[in-house]
Amino acid sequence: MEFIDLGRQYQAIKPMVDKAIRGVLDAHAYISGPEVGVLEEQLADFCGRKHCVACGSGTEALQIPLMMYGVGPGDAVFVPSFTFFSTAECVSLVGATPVFVEVDASFNIDCDDLENKIAIVEAEGSLRPRGIISVDLFGRSADYDRIEPLAKEHDLFLLEDAAQGFGGALRGKRNGSFGDVSATSFFPAKPLGCYGDGGAMFTDDDGIYALLKSIREHGKGADKYDNERIGINGRLDTLQAAILIEKLAIFEEELERRQWCAERYTKNLASCVMTPLVDDAHYSAWAQYTIRLNDTGQRARVQEELSEAGIPSMIYYPIPLHQQRAYALAGRKPASLPFTEEISCQVLSLPMHPYLEGEEIDRVSDIVMAAVRR
Ligand SMILES: *Cc1c(COP(=O)(O)O)cnc(C)c1O
Repeated sequence: MEFIDLGRQYQAIKPMVDKAIRGVLDAHAYISGPEVGVLEEQLADFCGRKHCVACGSGTEALQIPLMMYGVGPGDAVFVPSFTFFSTAECVSLVGATPVFVEVDASFNIDCDDLENKIAIVEAEGSLRPRGIISVDLFGRSADYDRIEPLAKEHDLFLLEDAAQGFGGALRGKRNGSFGDVSATSFFPAKPLGCYGDGGAMFTDDDGIYALLKSIREHGKGADKYDNERIGINGRLDTLQAAILIEKLAIFEEELERRQWCAERYTKNLASCVMTPLVDDAHYSAWAQYTIRLNDTGQRARVQEELSEAGIPSMIYYPIPLHQQRAYALAGRKPASLPFTEEISCQVLSLPMHPYLEGEEIDRVSDIVMAAVRR
């Protein structure tokens, strides 16, 4: 069994994808070919945003908006500590300071602690609070009912990291449409993935849209050799855009299939381990199906018994960002985020993708239950 079976997906769409790739090769517009613009329009439509700017990765999709806001040394950006490294790394890349915030039982940023951390930074006065990066971790929307008003009240920009959340929604409003700018990733293992690196940014603001496009291409002005500002080489390849157009065509169906898989896991497992929070307001993209076990000992036993049965499982994430060596070396005094530290010893992600069979989910569930009860 594979953790995310991209091979099964490719088999399902092979004729369309192969034709799309051949189309790009025949037209040989490898950079900024027409497929990129077509994809941008389709993605903006999909998540209900006015504009989309495709780029080279999810990390660039976070870095470019920070450059656009002129975030730099002396600035504070609030980020959850329980996420992929990139969420905080992009803040450090532009020279600013990530301020790590707790998460709650949904695995997303804890709004009480967010309020608390904003108040602390405002009171200390050594850093200028600039923005919040919220993450839709494992596919579930962060608590935008609270985050959006908080950002407005404190005059902070809100950058949504929807790298894992693309396809999910909060009361029908899609991830990728929250805050001032949203970022997503098309890394192959994400809910909507390409066959290499890729990413995209979304906004409703015409001015922001123009700036994101400029920074994506070396800060270009009127044309390629007129540079108005410092930017990066952050384009999405035409080949990846062509592949994504084919994958987007089956994405809704795949998302429904992910719901079905997650429901089956939860039905099997809810009586013996902590299963992911679900409710009527949230439609998760189920980038991961992540359970919580009692402690690292029990988790190791479950992982080992799964592995003996040829079933891969993953720990997302074993080390919270505030405890990463990169941040210790940066001379930060380690913050204490007790809940984040606790769940990093409990979480285990099980195989999750739209092509899982019911019997496979049942087999994984049986092994987890037997290991927990032992
Ligand atoms: C994957 C991921 C990213 C980075 O995306 P890349 O395309 O790998 O650069 C950023 N944030 C989160 C939460 C992610 O899961």
